[in-house]
Parts: sequence; structure tokens; C-alpha cells
Amino acid sequence: MPRGITPRRPTKTGRSEVTRPRVSRLTLISPSPPRAERKGALPGARSLAAPGRYRPTAPERVREILARLDRLYPDVTCALAHRSPWELLVATILSAQSTDVRVNMVTPELFKKYPTVQDFARLEPRELEPDIRSTGFFRNKSKSLVGAARKILEHFEGKVPDSMTGLLILPGVARKTANVVLGTWFGKAEGVVVDTHVHRISRRLELTRNHDPKKIEVDLMRLIPREKWILFAHQLIWHGRRLCVARGPKCADCLLENLCHAADKTWSTVARHSAAGA
Ligand code: SF4
Repeated sequence: MPRGITPRRPTKTGRSEVTRPRVSRLTLISPSPPRAERKGALPGARSLAAPGRYRPTAPERVREILARLDRLYPDVTCALAHRSPWELLVATILSAQSTDVRVNMVTPELFKKYPTVQDFARLEPRELEPDIRSTGFFRNKSKSLVGAARKILEHFEGKVPDSMTGLLILPGVARKTANVVLGTWFGKAEGVVVDTHVHRISRRLELTRNHDPKKIEVDLMRLIPREKWILFAHQLIWHGRRLCVARGPKCADCLLENLCHAADKTWSTVARHSAAGA
């Protein structure tokens, strides 16, 4: 045998032993990551939240968010099918705790059966229940629709009012529904629609810290230029359906990604903020 070569000693199992480099326990502990990486940012990512500089409601950040939403959703509008303000009002009331897709399946038959406000006003709420059952909460919705139709005949000569105060006296109509009708049909920016998508995304983007829809609306009205109120809400609603969904948002495909510090992001190049979330 040549000098310097030592034969391998077989193990008890018969397999040859593999020599592994000895690794010190210390080398397994990586150094503390920089602040931007600690909360889930990718290595090397630059945080926009450097202490003392980051202000989520800074005008330049809000402008950038609006510009990117315009690129993503240049001319979106309400997805509820309608041909008149009355049909839009009915569809919006039906959409509470339901989806636009579901409502759009129900309303064509509904408006064929009861084409006018007068037709709805003549009904007893329970007569309407079977037609709208699949949208959920059908008993309350029936009462609201019949009540709203009667009030419109009584106070507004059968026409859906085009003012916030007028709409808010109708049963089943709160600011969200009123804003949908005013913005989408009448083109009037009296407020910002705050539905479940606007609520969630405004919080994720740190445009508000509130949970109460009324307070969120006030925050958004302060931040967003009035001429953008109508479009902005539609854009967030579309974004909430397509990418920024409630569970598992598709952050890797999102144009707003490096502006967004939401705690529940699924992928991030910037620091996540624990208070920013749905
Ligand atoms: S990055 Fe993710 S959480 Fe933030 S807005 Fe986009 S989809 Fe929503």
C-alpha cells in the first residue's frame, strides 16, 4: 500500500463513514438582520419606513398610490348591473353581505317581475322575499326595498333623490349605499364609498387607522382630492376583488407592493408594519 493512504474503516452498519466538516454552533447563528428585514422584508430591501421620514399619509405617497391605481384601473366603475337610479339603489341594497355576481344573477328577473318603483311600493315585504332570498338577509332587505319605494313615492314624486340627505331618509340606506348611487348614477362626489374592500385596503395602505366606516370615510375625504373620490373607491373595490383579497393577497403581482407595509402581505420587499392590516 502506498504511503500516506489509510484505508477507510467500515462502520458497524457496513456503510462507509462520510466526513462532515465540523461546524461551530456559533456559525449557525446569523447576525441580526437590519431593521427593514426583521419584519419580513426580503434581504437587501430598502424600507420606506425609515424612522423620522416615513409618513403614510404624506401627500407625495398618497399621490403615488393614486397614480398607480390609475395605471392599474384607469376607468373602472360599479359592477352592479342597472339601467336607472332605482335599479342601482335596489342592487346596492341587495349587495350588502352578498356579492355583485350574486346580485347580478337576481336582479334581471326581479326587474322583469317588478319594473317600477310603484310595483315595489305595492308589495308586502314577504311577497318579495322569495325573489331575493339567495342574496342573504332577505327579510330585512325586503322590508328596506318596499319601505324605500314607498318613501320615494311619498316624498320624492317617485324619483330617487339625488342628495345625501334625501337618500339617507330611505330605509336600508346608509352612507355607503347613498355614495354608490350619488357617485355612480348622478356623478356627485358627496363622500367616499367605504365597503368591505375599501375598508380593508385603506387600512393595509395605512391611509387610515380606523375601523369604523364613517371614520374611515372622513380620513379618506381628507386625504384624497374630491375629484378622485368616486373613481378611487371603484379602484379599491376592483383591487380588492382581483389582487388585494381578504385572505392571501397577491402581493407579488401588485403594482403598489413597495408602497405597502401591510402586516398580512404574502410577499414583501419592504418592512411590514404590525398596525397596518385589515
Ligand atoms: S401589496 Fe399586497 S396587501 Fe399591499 S395593496 Fe398590494 S395586494 Fe394588497
